[in-house]
Amino acid sequence: MTIEVTQENLIKRLGPGRHLIVTDANVEAYYGKRFPGMDRFVIAPGEVSKSIETYERLIAYMQEKGMTRGDYLIALGGGVVGDLTGFAASTYMRGVPYINIPTTLLAMVDSSVGGKTGINMGNAKNAIGSFYNPTDIWLDVGFLETLPKREFASGMAEIIKYAIGFDPEMIQQIQAMDWPFDEMKNNREHIEALIIKSIAIKEKVVEDDFRDSGNRQKLNFGHTLGHAIEAYYGFKTYTHGEAVAIGMAYQLKQANQLGRLSDSAYETCMALFNKFNLPVDLRVPDHICGVAWHVAKDKKRKATHIHTIQLEKLGQLQIIPVDFTVFIDNLGCDLKIKI
Ligand code: NAD
Ligand code: ZN
Repeated sequence: MTIEVTQENLIKRLGPGRHLIVTDANVEAYYGKRFPGMDRFVIAPGEVSKSIETYERLIAYMQEKGMTRGDYLIALGGGVVGDLTGFAASTYMRGVPYINIPTTLLAMVDSSVGGKTGINMGNAKNAIGSFYNPTDIWLDVGFLETLPKREFASGMAEIIKYAIGFDPEMIQQIQAMDWPFDEMKNNREHIEALIIKSIAIKEKVVEDDFRDSGNRQKLNFGHTLGHAIEAYYGFKTYTHGEAVAIGMAYQLKQANQLGRLSDSAYETCMALFNKFNLPVDLRVPDHICGVAWHVAKDKKRKATHIHTIQLEKLGQLQIIPVDFTVFIDNLGCDLKIKI
């Protein structure tokens, strides 16, 4: 629900208890003072905190504080904070309630919806996790005012995914956005509308397929390559949204070259990525073969095939199983990988 996130509103919602806000140092610096009377567990910003070590420290802190099943965790931050907090909430004493307050655009449209929580094991992304829904998700677009432009663009990559893959009417709204903007208020209406539409799409798809077996895979458009790109570069070079943009761009390029996707649809998509300065290729294009190797380990690979998600036309995605060697070949690589 759309709400102004204040300490007063939180306390009103939660009632008395040993509630704990989990946040990262950047969000704490901007917004910590909004919650002077609430306990906060502050983690280092970035993917590095989706780790067993941080998880262990958080659980130890909850224990020390004497939290029980009636107490809430509150995730105040981006996808990293949300994934870690959700996982801690789902496992501490077999589950405590938590409230998710996403502060990045990516977290608002993607990671806060769908019930996936998790932490990484080395470079193995989300190797440990659970399906666990927050009690509430509080949406306050005001947080985006302080979000760095690059992080904003990262969230736009996911919004572009929803637009081109599920609801082409969103495309005009994205095209009409003022970018780069100095003040959120110039864009607030467009952004709020796009976020609400994106969440509705994700909720609908997830509701139909909670355990990620069929249609939900379509939400992974661009993500097979995207996740592999993130892993290949140790989660440092590209943001999640940038990696996913490159992943989508590769799929779109192939579909266009194979005559499955029209030139005009292809160009519309590319223009959207360009608008937000999102990358559509790797800075070192040859690295794609190293990335392809990571795909081999991707959890979506079944036997000799991987399930690729391809755009047939704007608003229509298809799940197409592709022989792994063909997939590699289409990327222009000649890998002799044992399958
Ligand atoms: P993030 O949480 O690392 O946040 C990005 C950066 O923005 C951080 O430096 C953070 O400190 C800063 N930040 C956050 N809010 C801010 C604000 N309001 N003002 C200023 N700075 C702010 O990254 P993210 O892009 O939000 O999330 C990425 C993570 O989400 C990845 O770990 C990814 O795997 C995960 N994810 C999960 C799901 C899911 O379904 N659970 C889906 C997509 C992504
Ligand atoms: Zn994503």
